Amino acid sequence: MKISSIKGFADILPGEVETWQFVEQKAREVFALYNFSEIRIPIVEKTELFSRSLGETTDIVEKEMYTFPDQDAKESLLTLRPEGTAGVVRAYVEAELYKVEPVRKLYYLGPMFRRERPQKGRLRQFYQIGGEILGRADAYADAELLLLLGEFFSNVGLDGAALELNSLGCVRCRPAYRKELLAFLAQQENKLCGNCRRRMERNPLRVLDCKEESCVAITAGAPSIQGFLCQDCREHFETVQKLLRETGVDYKLNPRMVRGLDYYCRTTFEWTSDRLGSQNAVAAGGRYDGLVEDLGGPPTPGVGFAMGMERLVLLLGTREFDADGARPSVYFVSVGDGARAWAFPAAHKLRRRGISVEMDGEQKSLKSQMRRADKVRARYVLIVGDDELAKGTAVLRNMDNKEQVEVRLDGIDEALAERINAK
Ligand SMILES: [Zn+2]
Ligand SMILES: [Zn+2]
Repeated sequence: MKISSIKGFADILPGEVETWQFVEQKAREVFALYNFSEIRIPIVEKTELFSRSLGETTDIVEKEMYTFPDQDAKESLLTLRPEGTAGVVRAYVEAELYKVEPVRKLYYLGPMFRRERPQKGRLRQFYQIGGEILGRADAYADAELLLLLGEFFSNVGLDGAALELNSLGCVRCRPAYRKELLAFLAQQENKLCGNCRRRMERNPLRVLDCKEESCVAITAGAPSIQGFLCQDCREHFETVQKLLRETGVDYKLNPRMVRGLDYYCRTTFEWTSDRLGSQNAVAAGGRYDGLVEDLGGPPTPGVGFAMGMERLVLLLGTREFDADGARPSVYFVSVGDGARAWAFPAAHKLRRRGISVEMDGEQKSLKSQMRRADKVRARYVLIVGDDELAKGTAVLRNMDNKEQVEVRLDGIDEALAERINAK
């Protein structure tokens, strides 16, 4: 019986996984440069963590979460995490990380789950890399996070990623904007899509985010939040921009960018690539100064981002990666029982020295073993037969230049290690 995978849930196979490993490695390197520590959070959390932090009226909470009853406590619901920030903040509060040091720079990587319509570069189990700076309200933290992302994109070789910025104001200044926007939208309510009409009262800013043509057309003339920012928010936003200019990071202001989640305030941002079509965000995030308190912690500002691995891999996919890691250094070709018995512990010894070895255990023909050594792109082949074994010699073939030499088996691991490490 053949069982297939679920729609929207994909395997990452050898051949593609090398790009993933490359991206993860580069991310870890850049996080280390900015003094971030890794945090690993559970994949399953209580549903209320997400409904409370992301907002009840967001797309994710309304229709995209994988939620199921807890078998151990029937009254409560569990959810496969649709994003990472809520879990990181929950952990920060639960472990009281703020008691030791309120400023924490944390990063995570792993799978997230959303019941979206699967399409190119968008899956139901998808992977994110995210970073959060907790405990800092200053604009320098926002700018640092943006620099980190810019560095990361340049280190993985993704050119043409563009940064868009906005400020959503704060609890003091946003209400006035909200009121003005609501009044503007109310005049043309009947031309908005059903989703927007339904959401308008609770979250009118989301209308600016709607991709429906009619809504885009109507909101083109909507008032901009920039004119409503309070003094503090304006200064914060101006400092972020000044720091980006001083470090040579290009950006564009986009007053329509409101991001889909309720917890954002002040700086929000998206890194986009025009090579991704309409789903063009590679990374996005923003400031969430009220979230830690909302989730039961002390008042603690925060700013963070998440980026989608699938889209990044899609963008980098055509690049050539050095796949040398997957090449065994030596392939043991053994002909005869005695030779095979010699090869097995000899391979073990070499691997313990850090040299990758592949061997055949089925006693296939010499020709068939050589074919396989070629297929796995072994750098060297060591050919041992029972006759050679009796003489204490073997044949070593360099598969790259096809040179063949006779070598002594005595001290062969030394000799092989020398050759391989010399390269
Ligand atoms: Zn404000
Ligand atoms: Zn709409």
